[in-house]
Amino acid sequence: MKPLSEKIAGVTESATIAISNKAKKMQREGIDVISMSIGEPDFATPQHITDACIDALRRGETHYAPSNGIPELLSAISDKIVRENKFPCTPQQVIVACGAKDAIYEACEAVLNHGDETIILTPAWVSYEPCVQIAGGKAIFHEINPKTFQLDDALLERVNRKTKMVIVNSPSNPTGAVFDKKSMKLVADLCEDKDLYAMSDEIYEKMIYGKEHISLASLGDMAQRTITINGFSKAYAMTGWRLGYAVAPKEIIGEMSKVQQHSISQATTFAMWGGVAALRGDQSCVEEMRREFDKRRKYIIGELKAMGYATAPAEGAFYAFVRVAGDDMEVASRWLDKGHVAATPGSAFYAPGWIRLSYAASMENLREAMARIKRVG
Ligand code: PMP
Ligand code: GLU
Repeated sequence: MKPLSEKIAGVTESATIAISNKAKKMQREGIDVISMSIGEPDFATPQHITDACIDALRRGETHYAPSNGIPELLSAISDKIVRENKFPCTPQQVIVACGAKDAIYEACEAVLNHGDETIILTPAWVSYEPCVQIAGGKAIFHEINPKTFQLDDALLERVNRKTKMVIVNSPSNPTGAVFDKKSMKLVADLCEDKDLYAMSDEIYEKMIYGKEHISLASLGDMAQRTITINGFSKAYAMTGWRLGYAVAPKEIIGEMSKVQQHSISQATTFAMWGGVAALRGDQSCVEEMRREFDKRRKYIIGELKAMGYATAPAEGAFYAFVRVAGDDMEVASRWLDKGHVAATPGSAFYAPGWIRLSYAASMENLREAMARIKRVG
C-alpha cells in the first residue's frame, strides 16, 4: 500500500482528548477515576438554551441553513462583539463554525501559505500547532515569561520576513493567566509594525476572576488584521453542541467561508438557534457558573499551595497549572494509575515540569482528588 499523508503523520494526537479517553475507559472498567484532564464545564446547558433548540427542531429547522450561519445568530454575535468586546463588527464579519476549534482551523487555512510562520505563545493549548501544520504553515514557539506570565520585548526577536500570524489566547488554556493591557499592546504594536495577522482566541473571556479581559481587536487598528475566536462551549456549557465562531475582516471571512462550504457546509441548524438564545437571553447563568468556578478555584489553589506546589496565576479559565518536581509525564501517570486522578501533563502544552488540572468538577470530586494527590505525591 502507498504511504498515507506525510502531513497528517507529522501531527500529534490531541493529548487533552487522549487522556480524557483513557480516563473514560478506566471509568467504564469500573475504576473510580476523577477526571481533571479535560476542559469541559460540568454544568448542564442552561434550560432556556436547550428549549430554544427543541423549539427549533419542532418548528422544522432541520434543513440546510446559510453556510456562514443563520442571520439571527450572525447579528446576535455582531451585537455582542460591539457591546462587550468594543470593536466594530457587522454580521458580514462573522462566521459560525462547528466549535471554536473548527473556526481556528478554517482561519489557518484562510491565512497561511506553505511555510508561513505563525508564532504560538507557550505554554499553549494543544490544537494550535496541528491547525497551523495541517494548513501548511510552520509553528514558531515563543515562551511567555515564566515568572510574570506576561509578554515582553523578547517576543520581537521571533519575527522575521516569513512571519505571517501571531496566536494569542487570554485567558489562557493551560495556564489560567490573563494578559494585561501591556502584553496585549505589545502584540498589537508588533502586528501593526510588521504587518502580521493575529488570531485572538477569547473562548475563556467570561471565566475571569478579578482581572479585565481585553480583546486584541479593540486596540488601535487591530480589528483590520485580527481574527477573534470565540464560542459557546465554555461560557454556556455547550461543549457537545459544537458551536463556535470567528469575527474578522470581510476578506478573511470570505476565504474561511470557502473552506467551510467545502468541508462542514455549516454548523448544525437547530444548534444555531440555541446559540441565539444563549447570546440574546438572560446572562445570569454565565455569572452563576463563573462564581461557582471561582469558589472551586480558590479551594484548589489553596490546597495545592498547602501541599507545597507552586501554581501559575489562576486568573481565568478553569485550570490550575501546577509546577511538579521531576518528569510531568511520570507524575501524571502516577496520579492516574495510583491515585485515579486524571490530569494533563504540561509537556502536552510545551511546558514540561507542569501539570494542568481542570477544576471544572464538583467540589466533592475536587476534595477527593486533592486527598488522593496528597496521598500519592
Ligand atoms: N480554544 C481553547 C483555548 C480551548 O481550550 C478550546 C477547548 N476545546 C477551544 C478553543 C475549542 O472549543 P470548542 O471547539 O469546543 O468551541
Ligand atoms: N479545550 C479543552 C481542553 O483543553 C477540551 C479538549 C480539547 O478540545 O482540547 O481540555
